[in-house]
Amino acid sequence: MMPFAAIHLGPLQISVLATWGLVILVIGIILRIFLQERRKDRILCLLYHRVVPADVYAGFKERERIFSVSAEQFAAQLDWLKDNGHHFVTMDQVVAYLKEETPLPDKPVFLSFDDGCESVYSQALPLLTQRNIPATVFVTTDADTWIFNSGEYHERRMTEEEIKPCHEGGIQVHSHAVSHRGLNEMSPADALHEMVESKRLLSEWISDDVRYFSIPLNFYNSATLKLCQEAGYDAVCVCDGATTNGGTSAFRIRRFIVEGSWGIRQFENSLQPRSVAQRRVISFLKKVPPKLLGEKRWMPLRARIFRSRLGPRLNFPNLRRAVLVAGFAVFCGLLAVTFVAFP
Ligand SMILES: [Zn+2]
Repeated sequence: MMPFAAIHLGPLQISVLATWGLVILVIGIILRIFLQERRKDRILCLLYHRVVPADVYAGFKERERIFSVSAEQFAAQLDWLKDNGHHFVTMDQVVAYLKEETPLPDKPVFLSFDDGCESVYSQALPLLTQRNIPATVFVTTDADTWIFNSGEYHERRMTEEEIKPCHEGGIQVHSHAVSHRGLNEMSPADALHEMVESKRLLSEWISDDVRYFSIPLNFYNSATLKLCQEAGYDAVCVCDGATTNGGTSAFRIRRFIVEGSWGIRQFENSLQPRSVAQRRVISFLKKVPPKLLGEKRWMPLRARIFRSRLGPRLNFPNLRRAVLVAGFAVFCGLLAVTFVAFP
């Protein structure tokens, strides 16, 4: 046997070994995600944006179908969850469970809406009230900011006169910042202002405490979460395409988007641990471009990609296929280089 001291590794061999190390690390992360999603104490925290009448929804293009769900489909999903033994819980219950280990009912589901579009009041509220189902809406306070004015389909924000009855009617109101911009690329003072000012305004509008915050665009880092604490929030929701469980921090409650294009069968499949884990891997990879390029460079590029011919094809099944093909290609390429480097 050759003693270790006698093995000479050149730059190529070192690069190959380092790349294998990286591949093993990525496989470890993916395995951990799959194991986490199989935990018995998982909480399904679902994220919606807009609930639109079926005839309006029928005219939507593919991209818009991710952020809107038809009222008919939304009602069917609520009924399916009820009929299949899921128990709806409030944000307060989720936070109490994560902080104080107050028990939750079996198969807990937490419903949330981001942005505060008017259809949460006009469409979702009646459907939820009829079924006595609680939910939470995270409202962006500046009614003139870009999310309420851009895109092929957009809705106005709920008015202040709609926000209060929404809160009193069973959809708890909490904050989704002032301007709906990436908080992790603002100065800490500006990010803190977004958190404090929206909290102040919403508390005034609903005459109640605003204790929870949801991160706009899911652009955040550990400093952003710390600032939320500093701003006086008790918990924070993110959207990492994952479920929450007993080990999750109340300052990083993980949710995943319910896409409007899902039929009831696909909705059911998408709640399964395997499917959520796959989405979580995609969601993790989606964070790489803004991290590498920075939000300011990434956002216009992202908008251009979505407007291009590629845009409509960037759905979950295609992204999953792309990741599998790319992963397989990297693995085969690395194997080939390994044989060259270590003949
Ligand atoms: Zn949002």
